[in-house]
Amino acid sequence: MIRYELTCRKDHRFEGWFASSAAYDAQAEAGEIACPVCNSKKIAKAPMAPSVAKTGSIKASTKALTPAAMRAALVELRRHVETNAEHVGENFADEARAIHHGEAEDRPIYGDATPEEGEALAEEGINVARIPWVPVGDA
Ligand SMILES: [Zn+2]
Repeated sequence: MIRYELTCRKDHRFEGWFASSAAYDAQAEAGEIACPVCNSKKIAKAPMAPSVAKTGSIKASTKALTPAAMRAALVELRRHVETNAEHVGENFADEARAIHHGEAEDRPIYGDATPEEGEALAEEGINVARIPWVPVGDA
């Protein structure tokens, strides 16, 4: 099973589970996926994003923003994370766990985690956030 974060045209975010990416494509094309909030069938995959631990100082307000302003805010968020947090890549879950248990230096980190890893961390009471990771540099 694959979990996708989806958005509708009104930017409602929701999750969907699919047997495969092909199954998602087929269901999306057939109009079988609807936004749970507004029932729109114009949905798209939200960009996959890495997780960030210790996000206390990072707040992204995406309310009432135009797409351009939202993108700018996300670029800003990404820069903030890249400047202030250490990239730990695929070791994110292990590192977040080590910091939580005091086995590693307490510091902000970011990196990649699978949805399963994210859920496991949440169950262990480890505070991580999944953020939209926009590409920087292309217009
Ligand atoms: Zn919607």
